[in-house]
Amino acid sequence: MKLVELPAFADNYLWLWQQDDQAVVVDPGDAAPVLQALAREGLILTAILVTHHHADHVGGVDELRAATGAQVFGPARENIPQPFTPVMAGEPLSLLGQHIDVLDVPGHTAGHVAYFLPHAEPSPVLFCGDTLFSGGCGRLFEGTPAQMLASLDALAALPADTQVCCAHEYTLSNLRFALAVDPRNTDLQAYQIHCQNLRAQGRPTLPARLGTELQINPFLRARHPDVRHAVAQHAGLDAKTQADDVAVFAALRQWKNDFQ
Ligand code: ZN
Ligand code: FE
Repeated sequence: MKLVELPAFADNYLWLWQQDDQAVVVDPGDAAPVLQALAREGLILTAILVTHHHADHVGGVDELRAATGAQVFGPARENIPQPFTPVMAGEPLSLLGQHIDVLDVPGHTAGHVAYFLPHAEPSPVLFCGDTLFSGGCGRLFEGTPAQMLASLDALAALPADTQVCCAHEYTLSNLRFALAVDPRNTDLQAYQIHCQNLRAQGRPTLPARLGTELQINPFLRARHPDVRHAVAQHAGLDAKTQADDVAVFAALRQWKNDFQ
């Protein structure tokens, strides 16, 4: 399968997954770049996958459905432009010959889902919307820190060679924060240089590799002693609170919200 990221708005990526002359798009916040790519590559749009209800992820759904007849799939519990086929965690889904696992990942929104393709070649693929970003995670608009931590734990358990297809190019600003939290992390230092070079060449930092995220992303490392210590210092957590994974994660997310 071929993965192409279509830039949209200031920093969104609409992910186009191609197989022969067919394609699936994930989170089309805008129809225009998708229609251009379909015409340029001579592709038929088979399906539209939606991770959550925000406008920058669903804004192009109606126009694309009308233009292509593609079937729309989205989380059952979210307000997605109708008509759409609701997806549920644990219910099998298959598109373009690929098995897809639907994962419930509440936190950014209440019904947010991710789509995981375990058999994709050359390695598994994850479309995670605004749940996991390279070096960061989504803001908690509707969910609790406990929900987001559980969602990130579920994603962290996927194979290390998973290609993580995030919906925004937030990597460099996320890494600036990550280094404030975890300044002695040499993997993180090296990854920042790598990503700065990619961006200087106008290239995306995505897909990210999950194994790398486990080494550099403070939100996947919230239980690491260095991260826990930095958060406790920053937020002034007492010893009891510092031992509480959810409290540490909540304070880390708040630190990021306030970070300039
Ligand atoms: Zn969002
Ligand atoms: Fe978004």
